[in-house]
Amino acid sequence: MRKILPLFLLFAALLLAWGEASSQAFPPATRAERRVARMQQATANVSEPDEYRLGRAVAARVLAAYPLVRDPQLQLYVNEVGQAVARKSSRPRTFRGYHFAVLESAEPNAFAAPGGTILITRGLLKLCATEDELAAALAHEAAHVAHRDGINTIAKSRWAEVRAERRVAAAKERGGRAAAMASLFEGSINDVFKTMAANGYGRTAEWAADQEALRTLHRAGYNPGALATLLAKMVEQEKTEKRGIYRTHPPTALRLAKVKMQLKGLPPQAPQKVRDQRFKEQKI
Ligand SMILES: [Zn+2]
Repeated sequence: MRKILPLFLLFAALLLAWGEASSQAFPPATRAERRVARMQQATANVSEPDEYRLGRAVAARVLAAYPLVRDPQLQLYVNEVGQAVARKSSRPRTFRGYHFAVLESAEPNAFAAPGGTILITRGLLKLCATEDELAAALAHEAAHVAHRDGINTIAKSRWAEVRAERRVAAAKERGGRAAAMASLFEGSINDVFKTMAANGYGRTAEWAADQEALRTLHRAGYNPGALATLLAKMVEQEKTEKRGIYRTHPPTALRLAKVKMQLKGLPPQAPQKVRDQRFKEQKI
């Protein structure tokens, strides 16, 4: 717990007010998204407070591997962009809100812990040429939170055990049971961390996250095409870079092709000078 305290103090300072989600629909829900919605039902009994606790523990594991970037201005900026997209996602509110932070690592990567803690590495940030591309990367991660992809990796049977132990512990109110419960919870944390950091959520969840990211960007006033331009650069980088996001996501060229299909027929948005200027002011 002590390790994650500085992070959460930082997050507390960076929290912004929530906005209203736009009702604008773009594009319509896909088959991949509907499948994700069905999967969500499997772990629907994981409460929001439990999701938050699990997510905090998962984020702490990531932070044990990568330190936070010591640049408050950059952290604040990434939070502002992140909050702007998260509040336009399909899940604008979570139990304790969304939190964004930049990790000190050259490896291009991003993590979406359950409940809304989103971590992006400096390596992935460096790949972004505009604020819209940063927003695209964050919108993809916010979609993982909205779809509860992390929580959905917990084996159904494991969560059933947690619930059963909890009932026994509540009835007995005695020490030994509480310890057993904690170790069961540990198993769930391992499930989420392993999938998020090593295996990835799988193709269906990734396509759905890309598709939701396009809609989120559109609602938040960003150019959805930024997801395509970011992915195009990732396609190039993937040829030499096999770590991080490339290990946990489907081949980037396939993601790019799917995103381009979704973008077809949409008028390109003019780049906004204000956004480009504040992006350039950051020391990335
Ligand atoms: Zn993803």
